[in-house]
Amino acid sequence: MKILLIRPRPHKETIGLQSVMICEPLELMQLSAVLKANNHEVEIVDMILEKKPIEYFIRKFSPELVGITGYISHVGIMKQYAETIKKIDKNIKVAVGGVHATVCPEDFKCEYIDYIARSAEDFYKAANCEDIKVRLADRSLPKRYTDKYYYLFANKCALIKTSFGCPYNCNFCFCRQISPYKAREIDDVIEELLQIPQKEVYIVDDDFLFNRERLLEFYNKVKENKIEKNFLVYGRADFIAANEDIIEALSKVGLNSVIVGIEAATQKELDGFNKKTKIKDNEKAVKILKKYGIECYATIILGVDWDKKDFKNLYKYIKHLELVFVNLQPFTPMPGTPYFEKYKDQLIIPYDQHEKWDMAHLVIKPEKISARRYYFEIIKLYYKITIRPKNVIYMFRRYGIITTLKLSLGAAQITWQYIKKVIRGK
Ligand code: SF4
Repeated sequence: MKILLIRPRPHKETIGLQSVMICEPLELMQLSAVLKANNHEVEIVDMILEKKPIEYFIRKFSPELVGITGYISHVGIMKQYAETIKKIDKNIKVAVGGVHATVCPEDFKCEYIDYIARSAEDFYKAANCEDIKVRLADRSLPKRYTDKYYYLFANKCALIKTSFGCPYNCNFCFCRQISPYKAREIDDVIEELLQIPQKEVYIVDDDFLFNRERLLEFYNKVKENKIEKNFLVYGRADFIAANEDIIEALSKVGLNSVIVGIEAATQKELDGFNKKTKIKDNEKAVKILKKYGIECYATIILGVDWDKKDFKNLYKYIKHLELVFVNLQPFTPMPGTPYFEKYKDQLIIPYDQHEKWDMAHLVIKPEKISARRYYFEIIKLYYKITIRPKNVIYMFRRYGIITTLKLSLGAAQITWQYIKKVIRGK
């Protein structure tokens, strides 16, 4: 069977991070490996990087089955693609998948979609695969793609997943809905790492820094196999704070950046999120990462009940932690979390405008200030962090002037999207 796998380009209303990162479509690469083992002819099209419209690829490849992946913000665009495909040839079967299809399959019900795959197995079934043994991802993407994947300062960045699901239960996060926590054998991970030519590797586990013994085994086997990579991972502050020795060891085998869910500046908010971390964990974690030269990318949730004073307090906290890179996310009641029901009557962005459910738009009406003011406070906060002389000097020294300016240009594009929100007031 001829199968085309598509990663969509985001809607123009989506405040995306494409200007600061474009990652490999790993889930499609994993599907591709199994499909090829079943003798299917497979092609992956990344619409973020392609200039030509979807029609071009459908006509050129003439697939019998098309698989489209995406997040919540892609729902509309995935349906549009499905309609376009059916209009070209109604006999082409269309399947959609991805994390949002797993949690909310009903959002994809439409006359142009034949299969809603809630798991990879669902998709293999649609493709009549007999052998669905899990395989290492198909790493044969064209160079014109692999050369363009990057994450902030990590150019030509490859992705790998070493575990599925998350063992924690933060109540704002829908990761826990996707799959129960399951970790791959380290030997299997090493085998895959040995096949990755890129130097920069982003480990996209929901929580890589979890099991001490497993991480020690990872450290030993990366060393033994002389694997020389730079790793970017997700990790929790409480683990980092309690396991300095592991962080030190991992820093010696290439761990150079960690995305940490700092989430909040107060214990009350952390407890409200059921984060199960302590404010002092955040402080200790940031210090430990700094000590071993590991970059900390902090994510922080902005409360719906915040006013000017809360934004000011957060800035003080960011300054106190000496954070240079932060991703500020207005609180979003994601479907699949208890908040979705709670806030469904207070939405200022209707749920069917999925393209704006990007964790950057304000989807709930702020309780104390206007939406315009709220967006203004976000821009102000980003601006204050970015222009701090200490931070500018740090970035120039660590990453060089050109790379820093390139990244600043990307960040400016995101700011511009926010400025438009302030102008429009929504
Ligand atoms: S926020 Fe992080 S630690 Fe919490 S459930 Fe989600 S992925 Fe797990």
